Amino acid sequence: MLVFLPVSLEEAFDAFEQCPDAHFLAGGTDFMVEVNFALRRPPAVVCLRRVEELQGWRVEGSEVVLGAGITYTELLAPRLGELLPGLAQASRTVGSPQIRNAGTVGGNLGTASPAGDSLPVLAALDAKIVVASKHGRRSLELADLIVGPKRTTLAPGEVIVEVRVPAALGSQQFLKVGTRNAMVIAVANVALVADWAGRSVRCALGSVGPVVIRAREAEEFISARIDWEGRTPPSDGDLAEFTALVRSAARPIDDHRSTADYRRHSVGVCAERALGRVFSGDNREASERTSWAS
Ligand SMILES: Cc1cc2nc3c(=O)[nH]c(=O)nc-3n(C[C@H](O)[C@H](O)[C@H](O)COP(=O)(O)OP(=O)(O)OC[C@H]3O[C@@H](n4cnc5c(N)ncnc54)[C@H](O)[C@@H]3O)c2cc1C
Repeated sequence: MLVFLPVSLEEAFDAFEQCPDAHFLAGGTDFMVEVNFALRRPPAVVCLRRVEELQGWRVEGSEVVLGAGITYTELLAPRLGELLPGLAQASRTVGSPQIRNAGTVGGNLGTASPAGDSLPVLAALDAKIVVASKHGRRSLELADLIVGPKRTTLAPGEVIVEVRVPAALGSQQFLKVGTRNAMVIAVANVALVADWAGRSVRCALGSVGPVVIRAREAEEFISARIDWEGRTPPSDGDLAEFTALVRSAARPIDDHRSTADYRRHSVGVCAERALGRVFSGDNREASERTSWAS
């Protein structure tokens, strides 16, 4: 197998041009599992770990720009945790320290699993994903990049370069339900952002459909009911209606990890708790898994 080790995007594009059957490799935490199970037999790989343009992060105006090669461990750094608390909460729930050291946001997007933990957060933040190839760059919403389970609209040779998200937007919560407390793929996960300035709640659901789902009806309902000036918690009735609308937005399936019914129940519990935490000012480790939501 041919291995390319480019240090710039240009070199990565050149490598792909030389070998159009090559696969891109970042942390390898999804990719190598597939290779080990003989689900992939790439004739060549283009390693992205040394590509300068994919590393690190920066603030540009009101946006944080994350290089696609940023790892979960890097997302947990205190400064980034303040700017993107929802993503830090999600990162804390990913795999183990080894997986968090190697796994990247670009890889989570590239794999496009419905259970990817960074994805609901990116959806709730209305992230823009910048992709590039030899032929130019384009910027996509998450829903235009990930179009099905493990299906993206990336063209051959196209690399996810960066993710642009608003800095320190409102209050952010991420909750995940799994069958145990560590090293677990989400049975359901929820990201919720309460944008105090924009007077809107955004709520994205993972692992309950073929792609991440924005619970738009629930968002509109609760955004109109919230007392944005007083920041008083929604009434019990409004909270119950919000939870019901979240559940009705889910399109879960039965599989070896969970039943559809349990998944639907779980996203409701997570969304209700996330909204509650936003108003209680309870920003303690919301990333703690809500194992066996009750
Ligand atoms: C033990 C274990 C536990 C895990 N736990 C979790 C978990 O809790 N939550 C979770 O969400 N995931 C989990 N994962 C899955 C995995 O760690 C994540 O999806 C991770 O983000 C993948 O990133 P990576 O850099 O390792 O991607 P890789 O494995 O290198 O690549 C994954 C895919 O994305 C493509 N790709 C990577 N980078 C780019 C790029 N810049 N441009 C274009 N395509 C690209 C690759 O070609 C490949 O198809 C776990 C995996 C393991 C093995």
